[in-house]
Amino acid sequence: MLPVLGVDADDTLWENEERFHEVEQRFRDLMAPWSDGEATDAALLATERANIARHGYGIKGFALSMVLTAVEISDGTIDARSLAGIIGWGHEMLAHPIELLDGVPEALDTLGSTHRLLLITKGDLGDQLGKIERSGLADRFWRTEVVPEKDPGTYRDVLECHDIHPAEFTMVGNSVKSDVLPVLAIGGRAIHVPHTTTWVFEEPDPEELAGVDFPVVENLGQVAGLLAG
Ligand SMILES: [Mg+2]
Repeated sequence: MLPVLGVDADDTLWENEERFHEVEQRFRDLMAPWSDGEATDAALLATERANIARHGYGIKGFALSMVLTAVEISDGTIDARSLAGIIGWGHEMLAHPIELLDGVPEALDTLGSTHRLLLITKGDLGDQLGKIERSGLADRFWRTEVVPEKDPGTYRDVLECHDIHPAEFTMVGNSVKSDVLPVLAIGGRAIHVPHTTTWVFEEPDPEELAGVDFPVVENLGQVAGLLAG
């Protein structure tokens, strides 16, 4: 049986963060009568931080946080149609075409010839499954797991569920905090494939990085060579 390679989805296989940045700019514009861009960003981030446990990761939580922030910033004076417009942005994001990162299908084909590929992504179940479906990549994966959080306990559970020993597991992804550190913590291996931007909530605590070493590659296409070496 081939060894298992875990693969992250958002910003590892396709653009994701960029979609959020586009809508954040619209939100700054909408809030401009009450607040400058920097203050709007800070208020939205504070709302997201306060609600991540309730909202989870993903578009729905993001839209709810924008609505709450808009009411807050405008001191309750923003009109209902603008709030409905924010929800509409969320709907647009949910239906946005998937933009694969360069070389991803070819890289998965190569990796799939030496590994069973296990997609592990966090966020809203429906949204994540929809993106996998629209990406056209679904049949390249042996199994798919959508998890609410990527911490050591979650990885331990996922591996146990699929009868995989952590020492025989490698994870690949763009987030050090979600794809690398928790996998190293349970005795697996991890490879970091950085993306252009990282969501502030995905930035690892510098203390957690002390003394931790892991390989970094420029793109998914370089992972096969690293695994073979
Ligand atoms: Mg990611």
